[in-house]
Amino acid sequence: MPTGGGKSLCYQLPALALPGMGVIVSPLIALMSDQVLALEQLAVSAAYLNSSQSLDEQNHVMRRAAAGELDLLYVAPERLLQPATLDFLSRCNPNLFAIDEAHCVSTWGHDFREDYLHLHHLKTLFPDVPRIALTATADQRTQQDIVTRLDLQDPDIYVEGFDRPNICYTVHPKQEPKRQLLEFLAERANEAGIVYCLSRKSVEQTAFYLSEQGYTALPYHAGLDSRTRSNHQKRFLAEDAVIIVATIAFGMSIDKPDVRFVVHMDLPKSVEAYYQETGRGGRDGEPADAWMVYGLQDVVRLGRMVDESQADPAHKRIERTKLDGLLGWCELTTCRRQALLNYFGEPSSAQCGNCDVCLNPPVTWDATEAAQKALSCVYRTGQRFGAAYVTDVLRGEHTDRIKLNGHDQLTTFGIGTDISDQQWRSIFRQLVVRGYLTVDHAHHGALKLSEDSRALLKGDAELQLREDQTKAKKRRRKSTYKLEIEDEDLMEALRDLRKEIATEAGIPPYVVFHDATLLEMVELRPNTAANLLELTGIGQAKLSKYGDQFLQVIKAH
Ligand code: ZN
Repeated sequence: MPTGGGKSLCYQLPALALPGMGVIVSPLIALMSDQVLALEQLAVSAAYLNSSQSLDEQNHVMRRAAAGELDLLYVAPERLLQPATLDFLSRCNPNLFAIDEAHCVSTWGHDFREDYLHLHHLKTLFPDVPRIALTATADQRTQQDIVTRLDLQDPDIYVEGFDRPNICYTVHPKQEPKRQLLEFLAERANEAGIVYCLSRKSVEQTAFYLSEQGYTALPYHAGLDSRTRSNHQKRFLAEDAVIIVATIAFGMSIDKPDVRFVVHMDLPKSVEAYYQETGRGGRDGEPADAWMVYGLQDVVRLGRMVDESQADPAHKRIERTKLDGLLGWCELTTCRRQALLNYFGEPSSAQCGNCDVCLNPPVTWDATEAAQKALSCVYRTGQRFGAAYVTDVLRGEHTDRIKLNGHDQLTTFGIGTDISDQQWRSIFRQLVVRGYLTVDHAHHGALKLSEDSRALLKGDAELQLREDQTKAKKRRRKSTYKLEIEDEDLMEALRDLRKEIATEAGIPPYVVFHDATLLEMVELRPNTAANLLELTGIGQAKLSKYGDQFLQVIKAH
């Protein structure tokens, strides 16, 4: 089920309805306290057990569980499988085991966790307790792994679909990434978002650059001390319009519903990773953007990382296939959502109307002659150079290096002056992604001809390439709600009240109410407790806690 689709309800409801206590296994320790706080707001009795607690705190939780006071208990997998915990659980009447982030059990998946491999013991230890496994990201093969490795016998499988219709997918060729990012952000002032970069250094540089431009941008990566990290994460959750610039170290434990954009400044490693990272946007169902820039340098770098990794050959092959899958997706000339859903085994024939390809269909051109020039120049220069050098030869640049190599004497020298640097970059990128050229990582990323390039060189094949769009057409994001000027004041006042309550209770504002609930208050102006109860996100528990305060603010406007 996609992120934000209601996975937790699938175990919370039965756990509450049955006698006893539901046990939720989750690797996301940092998320547990948020989940418990949110449940307490709904008057559900919940607690968690993990290594972040003191011994006293742990004993307190265990006493409450043993006394039958808890409806839900969150436990980290390594903790769950300790003999003491198992012994304690056998005395607590667990009514179900929910294994969250179940894709972590698959070595084929990208989040593999050793501890998850031992979870099948639950079946022998608690034969009568039902188990449910949940994930937001599993292709067919990972789904099969979950069934086998958790020893689920003949389970019912529910696939809810992977589509996140409110997320708009966009991929741009990487030209001047910082300027491109700034243009993207210009239309998104006052919105919260995540910007992913590959390295710690580029995280620092990008955060610094955005701060200089007046954004509240905070870096997050494993090289920062834990206090800074947790401080930045807290500010991201508690304040409006904070941008987190991060490596992939950030996000697993984030459940902020109003993240309006997820940016990739560098290419992730697979479609799964991309889908999961972009899935952190728009969990509240409101429009959100998944925006990425990528170029040949990403292809070369990630390919080298796979080549140079310590993994065994079989594993490398899997990683290579996954990377190729994502590269192909980047170069699509058909609907991106359709391809994404297909990848996860959910065929769809409809054009989504909410991705860059649908909104701004790419133009293809007959690149046969240009490709022949590129390939033959790679051949003439001895298949020893990268794209930048070969481009210089094609464009007839009299650089020292070219003269030194005598390449200004080649027949291919200066045969590509009619095509710009930027276009050549696009051509080489697509030739690599489509397999006409390979990158030799053992020789500094030198380009080499492949078997496929022969037919093209001999004129036996034609080639259509995608024309890179230098500038995206302006597109105003459609919003479900449009506020009138007089409504802005009320919205502002409601936000202030929410902030005040949240600060006092030490919880993020969205745990009090989501934006959508505040917007309904503005739109419908409820004036009684009964009216408030009709709004999305307000139940009896929240009504008695906050109802009066919010009614007062609404009346005053
Ligand atoms: Zn589309």
